[in-house]
Amino acid sequence: MRERAKDLLDWYDVHARVMPWRTPPADKRAGTRPNPYAVWLSEVMLQQTTVAAVKDYFTRFTTRWPTVADLAAAEDGDVMAEWAGLGYYARARNLLKCARAVVAQHGGRFPADHAALLALPGIGPYTAAAISSIAFDLPHAVLDGNVERVMARIYDEHTALPAAKPILMAHAEALTPVERPGDYAQAVMDLGATICTPKSPACGICPWRTPCLARQRGTAPELPKKTPKKAKPVRHGTVYVARRPDGAYLLERRPDRGLLGGMLGWPGSDWVDVSLDRPAGTPPVKTDWTVLQGEVRHTFTHFHLILTVMLAETDAEPDTGRFLTQAEFGPSDLPTVMRKAFDLTRH
Ligand code: SF4
Repeated sequence: MRERAKDLLDWYDVHARVMPWRTPPADKRAGTRPNPYAVWLSEVMLQQTTVAAVKDYFTRFTTRWPTVADLAAAEDGDVMAEWAGLGYYARARNLLKCARAVVAQHGGRFPADHAALLALPGIGPYTAAAISSIAFDLPHAVLDGNVERVMARIYDEHTALPAAKPILMAHAEALTPVERPGDYAQAVMDLGATICTPKSPACGICPWRTPCLARQRGTAPELPKKTPKKAKPVRHGTVYVARRPDGAYLLERRPDRGLLGGMLGWPGSDWVDVSLDRPAGTPPVKTDWTVLQGEVRHTFTHFHLILTVMLAETDAEPDTGRFLTQAEFGPSDLPTVMRKAFDLTRH
């Protein structure tokens, strides 16, 4: 096992991906310690989002809030606005809760302890393992989608996901070395992202090509096996976009709990499982509304959403929400689904 980890670490020393939150292996050898705040922030942002999409967000966050204490002191609305577009908004709310807990309970320093990390808001087993290993070099196995694929292939594991997770985790734990576990965790992720890719793994240049059972047996492209997902239901709703002649828009902040919680959005109807043949919900202001041609389509984790968009130009007093001036609001403050509705009004 130690040989296998060494082969991968040798490869990582040469081929590690450059990322703004990462401490490169050469810097670590020179004595630079990873920044736990950067590791935590990047791991939360990377959940269900790609590295390419996260880089700009990470840079903006760390420029505006360079330490966890700075983030803990931020206004909720500012953080939600910076997060807009990354999706999964419960993560942003938990991000703030976690930053504040790190300040209140740990003096502004992330604890170098797996159990203490796990006790923080929004930190589950995966993130706790990632911070433990990457930030503090503790030997915890990290199992993300890339690592699952690599483990399934080197052990030629044909049990389908998600049932295979504990088996793959056991393999990942057995392989995790005591020396340089942080670099090792990142090395497996990099291997999965750059060499052991889903469709066409580059086995010829893989540091694990000799022991890999899937390469020997020709099964790599079909692994990992996955249990087919159920088709997502489709929900329907209506949003009301009201613009004042001075360019202000009528918006409301959604309740903290639930989907898009705490984010700005257009007032609108509930989202229901039946197709609607007319606009739904109560308009937030009494005026003449126009149904826009086209519709907004957006996919959440558990359902597809189709929104009808209503548009009005008015300076009447709203029943719900508040007009935000151009100085108070920019479209980038909106979560993606709401921004799509905004974009439709501009066509
Ligand atoms: S040899 Fe091929 S299938 Fe096996 S781990 Fe390497 S890239 Fe993946």
